[in-house]
Amino acid sequence: MTEAATSIGLAPDFKDLLESLKTAFDTDRTRSLDWRADQLCALERMMVDCEQEIMEALQTDLGKHPLEAWATEIAYVAGDAAYCRKHLRKWAKKRKVRTPMLGQPGKSWVQPEPLGVVLIIGAWNYPLQLVLAGLAAALAAGNCAIVKPSELAPATSEVIARRVPEYLDGDCVKVVQGGVPEASALLELPFDHILYTGSGAVGRIVMAAAAKNLTPVTLELGGKSPCVVLPDANLETAARRIAWGKFTNAGQTCIAPDYLLTDADTEARLLPLLQQAIVDMFGTDPQTSDSYGRIVNDRHHARLAGFLDSGEAAIGGRTNPATRFIEPTVLTSVEKDSPVMQEEIFGPILPIVRADSLDDALRFIRSGDKPLAAYVFTKDRDAEARFLDQVSSGNVCINDTMMFMTVEELPFGGVGQSGMGAYSGEHGFRTFSHMKAVMKRAWWPDLALRYAPYTPKKFRQLRKLR
Ligand code: NAD
Repeated sequence: MTEAATSIGLAPDFKDLLESLKTAFDTDRTRSLDWRADQLCALERMMVDCEQEIMEALQTDLGKHPLEAWATEIAYVAGDAAYCRKHLRKWAKKRKVRTPMLGQPGKSWVQPEPLGVVLIIGAWNYPLQLVLAGLAAALAAGNCAIVKPSELAPATSEVIARRVPEYLDGDCVKVVQGGVPEASALLELPFDHILYTGSGAVGRIVMAAAAKNLTPVTLELGGKSPCVVLPDANLETAARRIAWGKFTNAGQTCIAPDYLLTDADTEARLLPLLQQAIVDMFGTDPQTSDSYGRIVNDRHHARLAGFLDSGEAAIGGRTNPATRFIEPTVLTSVEKDSPVMQEEIFGPILPIVRADSLDDALRFIRSGDKPLAAYVFTKDRDAEARFLDQVSSGNVCINDTMMFMTVEELPFGGVGQSGMGAYSGEHGFRTFSHMKAVMKRAWWPDLALRYAPYTPKKFRQLRKLR
């Protein structure tokens, strides 16, 4: 319907779609914990049954190796759905809180309730995970949802649109395919919550649109995630873990280490180890490795190729626009104000910026926006503590990259310019729930002291009760 509308120049209109979801929500079936568990089970089943076609779609969109597609997308969504299913009864329970003397006899509790109909808009770099893990959280909390996968990963978007209605309750979950016109039309509607993953520039558009309807938002954005390597680190392990974090999905990962900060001597010792780690993962010609991904489109390829002049390619540096290939690249002699340091790189280019000391590195990190992730490699507990204390970022990993994503109980989300809110595990359940505050009073006694007329005696008694 929307494709036809946009192809003849009409703005898409999703009012009826939202109305149908509101009607489904008003049947109250999503409040049932059994319904929620069934939906999460179905989502897990979809990940198992459709594994092959999802892998093929991710191969088409991003050249993702099946192993990477499985680990970072398919198994991730299945794991998230299973975790939510396992814990949702506990999360959905009322939580009693203390009732003060003034409210006695009485009881008070917090009772989670679903928000209603939510909108989930995803980015292209993990096109399955970024919408379906959010959907798992929304379903666990008992919501209906519209999911809008990224148009820049069309093969994956098509699989999601085709398979979701087969597995999930089609009255309560809808998929809208499309790009900016569709996203813009959806954003005009009064959803009960919006989860958006993507760039900060569009995050601002989403937030401004949501403000018109007073719709709360969770924004999962990006930024330049720094990685500090101190001289005392185990450089061999650090090199492997940094290369893995940077070159997985050809660097198109929101939490990839964006750039390294280290001193001259450590840089000289680290470079051959990074080179070795890259060869171990992708061979001497990564262009022929099926483990190495491709850049999502020509525009991003050209943008990334433009960064190669920001320093000297100590490792890699070759590109092939025809196949959207960019070699795993490490740039040295990078000035802090060079183009590659002005925006999130979001590709397989790792600049090394000189920082003569931890203080120097901290000063530089703190002069920029708060990043989504921050990494430090060191054996020094004091240095680690100072880094934790002084760097504000969504997430931190000490002596590794990206691995916090495997810890289900950690919230995942940004701070400042890297985003707001979180939707992993129980945090997702809370994001998509209203924590309703409830107090129940006994009928008797009904103390007169709060009622007018106010007297000095009542005032004295009231003070004693506080
Ligand atoms: P994108 O181009 O796929 O856009 C994201 C979504 O926004 C898409 O569904 C798109 O249709 C929609 N969109 C684009 N322009 C719009 C507009 N003008 N109005 C309304 N909707 C619009 O992805 P992107 O923005 O290139 O994403 C890359 C960014 O996302 C990077 O900064 C990355 O760090 C960040 N990211 C963050 C996370 C996270 O979890 N924090 C995860 C992945 C990516």
